[in-house]
Amino acid sequence: MILNPSRTAALGQLDEFIPIAGLYARDRNHVKSGHPSVSRLSPAIRHRLIREEEVAAAVLRAHPFNRVEKFIQEVFWRRYWKSWLSLRPDVWSDFRDSLGNLTENPRVREVGDARSGNPVIDHFVSELVGTGYLHNHARMWFAAWWVHEARLPWQSGAAFFYRHLLDGDPASNTLSWRWVAGLQTPGKTYLARRCNLEKYLAPELLESLAAGLAAFENPSALLPEAVAKPPITRKDWPHENLTSSPATGLWIHEEDLSVEHSPLGTQCFSSIIVTGDVANWDNHRFPTAKRQWLANALEDAATRAGMRWQIPASLEIQKPNGEALVNWAKANALAQVVAMHPDIGPLHDSLPALRASLAQAGIRLVLTDRPEDLRIRHFASGGFFQFWERLRKTFVANPPKKTSSRDSQLPIDFPA
Ligand SMILES: Cc1cc2nc3c(=O)[nH]c(=O)nc-3n(C[C@H](O)[C@H](O)[C@H](O)COP(=O)(O)OP(=O)(O)OC[C@H]3O[C@@H](n4cnc5c(N)ncnc54)[C@H](O)[C@@H]3O)c2cc1C
Repeated sequence: MILNPSRTAALGQLDEFIPIAGLYARDRNHVKSGHPSVSRLSPAIRHRLIREEEVAAAVLRAHPFNRVEKFIQEVFWRRYWKSWLSLRPDVWSDFRDSLGNLTENPRVREVGDARSGNPVIDHFVSELVGTGYLHNHARMWFAAWWVHEARLPWQSGAAFFYRHLLDGDPASNTLSWRWVAGLQTPGKTYLARRCNLEKYLAPELLESLAAGLAAFENPSALLPEAVAKPPITRKDWPHENLTSSPATGLWIHEEDLSVEHSPLGTQCFSSIIVTGDVANWDNHRFPTAKRQWLANALEDAATRAGMRWQIPASLEIQKPNGEALVNWAKANALAQVVAMHPDIGPLHDSLPALRASLAQAGIRLVLTDRPEDLRIRHFASGGFFQFWERLRKTFVANPPKKTSSRDSQLPIDFPA
């Protein structure tokens, strides 16, 4: 059930999901073994082995919009969270700093070792650690139990998810935990209730985990102290110009693994490197299985880039990015290194140091964005449904053509 880390596997899984996409709104909340009612595409979407627009277009070629609106809406929740955080980067740095200030808590370790004492929680921990995936409802129940029942810091729960989830994402993860803890939408917390678990857990799971249900009987919310609405502090996203130079190298990283399907796809490069953000993997203690998954996804990106540009792409998953990029740029006599712009998160945090190391060697770092990201980024100035209404209009007005091929240029174009 774990998605193989390649674009081909992701497209294959999308093809398998398309026939049941029309049932998603009805079935998506049910937590069943193997999770047959949801797409399980999140690791691929998270690392951009495939893009949200591609997923939406493929589903809309097979179904009328009103039958699959719920699914497409969920796909664009991720883009909402990313855009929201991109406008308010202080929320990320506050989370990162508060995580660094937390003291060691033996209870956090016990829960993380599936020794919480509650079979429901231990079951989800085992699934998360064993597979790198959890169903959305399981994530919500687990996070609600962590925050409101076990009364553990939401930040350490978010770090635990980020470490193990193959789709672990600075925006979707951090902001979902904030939402459960009542920090994202002032006055609203998420509580997991026994009746909800009884409704959506598969009968065999319900039976085997029955002893853990009492903890969800009468949940009481841990209300946060006064919650301030985080202001937008970065309305504009920096734009950098790529100058034409034969000594230009392409850097591919794990925030965007289908660069050949981006504006950089039409540029020429003299050399290509694909790197893993190993400093971040170490810092967050990513387990071996997740490192391997990421390494394979990076290798897949390197193979595709090699085919697209007809030059071998080197893969670096041992050295930190700074060292790897400077060594490679010097060895290939590069004047500039070009990459997709990582959005807010650990890789973005490391950019100033990376840029400085390259600059010391006389090399420019130029970051570029996907126009579709820039176009909808500012839609996230308010709540999700405001964001969605603007996207929805486009989907309704311009459904993708049934005949257009999967690899054609972006099939969905959001007006600014
Ligand atoms: C506490 C908590 C933490 C989470 N952490 C992450 C995370 O680190 N990374 C992550 O990608 N998602 C996260 N989610 C959102 C959601 O649970 C997963 O995206 C979803 O379960 C992935 O499974 P799927 O691919 O089968 O989803 P499907 O239901 O098939 O949905 C299709 C795609 O839509 C997107 N999506 C669906 N639901 C959401 C959502 N609520 N928020 C954002 N995107 C969504 C995902 O890209 C997903 O692959 C979190 C949710 C909670 C409650």
